[in-house]
Amino acid sequence: MSTLDLKKIENRLYKELDEDRYQHTLGVMYTSAALAMAHHTDIQKALLAGLLHDCAKCIPNKKKIKLCKKNNISVSDFEEQNPFLLHAKLGAFLAKTEYGVDDIDVIRAITYHTTGKPDMSVLEKIVYIADYIEPMRCKAPRLQEIREMAYKDLDECIYEILKDTLDYLEENPKEIDQTTVKAFHYYKTLHMDRQGEKEHA
Ligand code: FE
Ligand code: FE
Repeated sequence: MSTLDLKKIENRLYKELDEDRYQHTLGVMYTSAALAMAHHTDIQKALLAGLLHDCAKCIPNKKKIKLCKKNNISVSDFEEQNPFLLHAKLGAFLAKTEYGVDDIDVIRAITYHTTGKPDMSVLEKIVYIADYIEPMRCKAPRLQEIREMAYKDLDECIYEILKDTLDYLEENPKEIDQTTVKAFHYYKTLHMDRQGEKEHA
């Protein structure tokens, strides 16, 4: 994907998204690129996935459900009750069909940017983290610590974000997606194993 293509997508997203979401999108795009630099992975893919991660975010919820059903994208009961979650897989679908993205890594990074999942790829981790730490974000606790960690250790950073996310969601247990819970347990186990290794070193 050339810079020109990215610019075209940017212009189109400017029309599709509201002002705040557009600014957030640029923040996620550049933060994803910076993380790709820090972790020696493909910068162009990171830019593209970051740019498109929320492309379906500003579609009204009813239309999200309708578009999913029309295009044979599965909608679980949980997603039907929390339709904002659908912007991730609907976004991945639109990235393919409307924005011409054929890179499966990029598509997956868009698909899992909201819930996370166990055993994420480097690009999936990067977009998930960038979404949480981009410069416009200010509400999450421990942001400074988590931002620093993002450039050092992706797995530890994911673990900390999932932990804080679940703590926050626990105040409203109905809204916890099981994929996020599974992701948390996966990264917690990884974290514990690494702690154990350190102690035995
Ligand atoms: Fe999102
Ligand atoms: Fe986002």
